Amino acid sequence: MRAFIRGLMVVAAVAWAAAVPRAAGPLKVVGTTEDLGSLAREIGGDKVTVDSLGKGYQDPHFVEAKPSFILKLVNADLLIAVGRELEIGWLPPLITQSRNSKIQPGAPGYLDASLTVRILEIPQGQITRAMGDVHPLGNPHYWLDPNNGRLIAQAIRDKLSELRPNDRDYFAQRYVDFDKRLADAEKRWDAALAPYKGAKIVTYHRSWPNFAERFGLDVVGYVEPKPGIPPSPSHTLDLIAEMKRLNVKVILVEPYFDLKTPNAIARDTGAKVLVMTPSVGGVPEATDYLKLFDYDVNLLATTLKAISGK
Ligand SMILES: [Zn+2]
Repeated sequence: MRAFIRGLMVVAAVAWAAAVPRAAGPLKVVGTTEDLGSLAREIGGDKVTVDSLGKGYQDPHFVEAKPSFILKLVNADLLIAVGRELEIGWLPPLITQSRNSKIQPGAPGYLDASLTVRILEIPQGQITRAMGDVHPLGNPHYWLDPNNGRLIAQAIRDKLSELRPNDRDYFAQRYVDFDKRLADAEKRWDAALAPYKGAKIVTYHRSWPNFAERFGLDVVGYVEPKPGIPPSPSHTLDLIAEMKRLNVKVILVEPYFDLKTPNAIARDTGAKVLVMTPSVGGVPEATDYLKLFDYDVNLLATTLKAISGK
């Protein structure tokens, strides 16, 4: 009888352990980029641990998959992806190899951050990846509009609340606090760039349409002939002619691209090359989502001021 009761207690303990233990520790969150990781930290606070896969100084389209990524995914409770096929070249096999049913696309622990934000450059007509275009489902660099950052933070708040209903109020409060700091910062950024509305710029990759729309910049050309396609001599000559015609004096280059072609274009046009980071971690100063904009806005405003004299 005593053995039977002990057996019952063991069964009960195992059942309890299976049902509850994850409620005790923090949720394990993995972001595919440092931007998503930073926003998850803002909302999750000490109720989550956060890892990021791609680093901000890497091209998010072409992150080199490492074995350590699979280990992170094996143990994850929530995977947050940029979506719009940004990670299609490297993430799907990692998710499969993790054998973690919680974070498979469609499962409760998989959050596609692109579903509730403003997406630009959605192709009209038939969707195609012809000629290597890496933006087949619209522009995936949407986090560079701070209001999209706000919408991502809301989606993360809702997802964390769904996975941990008991901490719903905590996540809601963290969101309110983040939203307030973001709104204060937006006033600062808008004011810093307000004098340069309509400034014409060229960018290496199409990373900046959301940023440009938000801050009133006019992107008139790209060093890449198409997103993901390296510069070609004929395209570069056309771009130089167009920059001279429109008097464009700024070329934005993401930290992970070769500066050879941008520097050559700059020599020919008198433009200035600015290495601006699209992601948290792309430069040492950009340690979180708000500091990413602090860095980029300050760099761009300082340069445009020097060029325009405004
Ligand atoms: Zn891209």
